[in-house]
Amino acid sequence: MQITEGRVSQYMDLYLEEYGKPINRVQARNELTALVCLMESVYKYCNKTKNMETLCPNCREVIDPDSFRDEVSIEEFNISGFCQNCQDLTFRNGRQQAN
Ligand SMILES: [Zn+2]
Repeated sequence: MQITEGRVSQYMDLYLEEYGKPINRVQARNELTALVCLMESVYKYCNKTKNMETLCPNCREVIDPDSFRDEVSIEEFNISGFCQNCQDLTFRNGRQQAN
């Protein structure tokens, strides 16, 4: 993200609003730069972990993409992230039970 003068001004406004005291432009630019760097590193980290093994949110087992029985199971995985096993346990009869 580019640190433009407009964004620095925005940050100065936000700072004043949040802390009730002004911040100078140099300080504002430094803080904004640090924040952007932090966000970018978190974003990169998230992107990296996205490509790593996917864990089932229910049983925490690594999901094998080939383990899904049919299209419905894959679709359910895209929604809930559940592995085939947990889907079988949670959605008996192949249909989601009423909440
Ligand atoms: Zn599971």
